[in-house]
Amino acid sequence: MKLTNQIVIEKAKELGFDLIGFAKADLLQDETEKLKEWLSKGFHASMDYMERNFEKRLDVNNIFPNAKSVISLAMNYFTDHQYSNEKGFGKVSRYAWGKDYHLIIWEKLEILEERLKEIDPSFNCLTYVDTGPVMDKAWAVRSGIGWLGKHTNVITREMGSWIFLATIICNQEFNYNRPIEDFCGSCRACLDACPTKAIVDEYVVDANRCISFLTIENKGEISDGLKNQFDNWLFGCDICQDVCPWNKKFPTQTREKEFEPDGNKEIALQEILEMNSQEFKRRFETSPIKRAKLNGIKRNAEFLMKAGDSIH
Ligand code: SF4
Ligand code: SF4
Repeated sequence: MKLTNQIVIEKAKELGFDLIGFAKADLLQDETEKLKEWLSKGFHASMDYMERNFEKRLDVNNIFPNAKSVISLAMNYFTDHQYSNEKGFGKVSRYAWGKDYHLIIWEKLEILEERLKEIDPSFNCLTYVDTGPVMDKAWAVRSGIGWLGKHTNVITREMGSWIFLATIICNQEFNYNRPIEDFCGSCRACLDACPTKAIVDEYVVDANRCISFLTIENKGEISDGLKNQFDNWLFGCDICQDVCPWNKKFPTQTREKEFEPDGNKEIALQEILEMNSQEFKRRFETSPIKRAKLNGIKRNAEFLMKAGDSIH
């Protein structure tokens, strides 16, 4: 049977995806031009991989020949809990409170692919979750899932920006969605709230100043010039999303139990400083926190202690 939008949406929703959009597998010309400009200013800090595979980012046919469509999927991860600012503890970004989303979403994508192939054996695809040279945010915008907010996260009308994105590049045609309007309007709440002034302009984030980059992907030291500006963030930072009116308006609870906090909402800094590699592995085995590695998370804890950020 030929696959339709309705069938894909139904199967994806059964597996827990919340929003599904369809885009033609066209060139991402404007989006890659903007990326080039951002890179030329050095705003990607040490993320050198962003400079590579431009041809693949521009044209998904360079990853998956004869691609016809790109399906974008979003999964809400908001859980109804708040951060605590307890003395001696560092805060963890919402997305890392529960089990690693890669593990959860990869499994769902595998099942989805199997189910779609059962319906139409000629269906073929490649799937991505935040990995590989695929511009997942650009595809989410093109397929009408949401718009790119001034903080550069994708915002949906249905559930704000607390979403994980997944992307499917495939060999079938569908009816395509159109991008939706940008509903940021004259709001500048995220730019004003960012403690390190990392949102250097509307829709432009300088990773060199962004707490999220500095505490997760960054392999180097954190500049003393940013002392006392981290607002107690140990891993990631949610400030620009927390102040966004689209997140405040309709907080919708996730349907996925494994995104519930698993003891990692905030972590004692002393515990991190005393942790050895075996303890780190055991504690964060299935958590996104393992991405920072033991050295990275210790560096963050030391920075907060040194800066006095953890003392309120
Ligand atoms: S994540 Fe934090 S530091 Fe980065 S832009 Fe948003 S508010 Fe600023
Ligand atoms: S805080 Fe305001 S400007 Fe920033 S992303 Fe949200 S709506 Fe857009």
